[in-house]
Amino acid sequence: MIVLKTSRELELMREACKISAQALEVAGQAVKPGISTWEIDKIAYDFIKKQGAEPNFLGLYGFPGTACISINDEVIHGIPSKNRILKEGDIVSIDLGAKIHGFNGDNAATFAVGTISAEAQRLLDTTRESLYEGIKAAVAGGRVGDIGHAVQEYCESRGFGVVREYEGHGVGAKLHEDPGVPNFGTAGRGIRLLPGMTIAIEPMITEGTYKIKQLPDGWTVKTADGKLAAHFEHTIAITDNGPVILTQV
Ligand code: MG
Repeated sequence: MIVLKTSRELELMREACKISAQALEVAGQAVKPGISTWEIDKIAYDFIKKQGAEPNFLGLYGFPGTACISINDEVIHGIPSKNRILKEGDIVSIDLGAKIHGFNGDNAATFAVGTISAEAQRLLDTTRESLYEGIKAAVAGGRVGDIGHAVQEYCESRGFGVVREYEGHGVGAKLHEDPGVPNFGTAGRGIRLLPGMTIAIEPMITEGTYKIKQLPDGWTVKTADGKLAAHFEHTIAITDNGPVILTQV
């Protein structure tokens, strides 16, 4: 069921999303060679709690962290660990959210650890830009397929892969609501986009094949060919005046 938000609810969403964006920024600032993913997770946890909010990934479906932290060929759902130490040249995806006043925010970004290769930088830039292409397509009266089409076209035309098995989603009182928002698809197809819908758009883009594999830990998702993956996400509101990014610091 798709839940449309009132203007009052959008204001509450905005606060949850702002804290989510600030927590992602703080976590991203901690990224450097030598830090563990557990330490980054702790920084995000402490920040969110300090704002009076709750880390909404923690415990969701049994996930043990505040943030999903995924390195290099890990696409999503990496588990923070004291044994995972970032090193120069890595890329690291951090996905996290906060809940406050009964509403959720959700956002993600991939960060460079020190100096990264030109190819890795191109993957990051393309994935980030594809998110904004997707957001531009999230217009009231359009269709959810417009978003996926925009993301897919942008990335595939630049030689990158688009992960199929995971997708964006509605966000609201629950972190994951309807509708699903795939990063591929056909323009003009799918659910109609309406003012008051709040959705997370989150392209997961790969350097090589778009095929993925799940690790035996039950969480971590990697690229099937071991090549790099990147992930950027914003929670947005669809309004009569166009898409509004809610996860802004
Ligand atoms: Mg999400």
